[in-house]
This record gives sequence, structure tokens and C-alpha cells, in this order.
Amino acid sequence: MPKKDIHPPYYPKAKVHCACGNIFEVGSTKEFIEIEICSKCHPFYTGKGKIVDKMGRVEKFRKRLAKKEELEKQRNKKNKK
Ligand SMILES: [Zn+2]
Repeated sequence: MPKKDIHPPYYPKAKVHCACGNIFEVGSTKEFIEIEICSKCHPFYTGKGKIVDKMGRVEKFRKRLAKKEELEKQRNKKNKK
């Protein structure tokens, strides 16, 4: 952003209209902006798409870890006896 916004005009509350229907305000040199993806419909934020797969893996990993911890607990109990 230039220090002196003489031109082009600067709109501190430019309307951004996303393809998903989300509208938000942002500072821009354009009064109205149309975008195809925003923070609300981006896969990274919504958890749709590739991220789901990753999250599934994380969940699997967590379950595996929990199982491992459970096994270790049982093993420790046996050792104490
Ligand atoms: Zn969007």
C-alpha cells in the first residue's frame, strides 16, 4: 500500500463478494471486488477436500496412539503385579 493514496482512490471498506455468497469488507483500491474463494469457503478453512483426508489420518494416528498408550498402561499394571 502506498503511503499517499492520492490515486488510485482507496476504499477502506471495499465490498468483497465471494462466489460462495460470503460478503466482507476489506481495504482496497476497488470499491467492489468479486472473488471465487475466501476464508469461509477455502478448503483450508472449511475442512473440505484434501484437508479432510489429512484430518482422517490425524484421527487414525491419534487412535493408534491412544491404543498404544492403553497397551502400555496394561503392560505397566502387569509389571507391577
Ligand atoms: Zn467464499
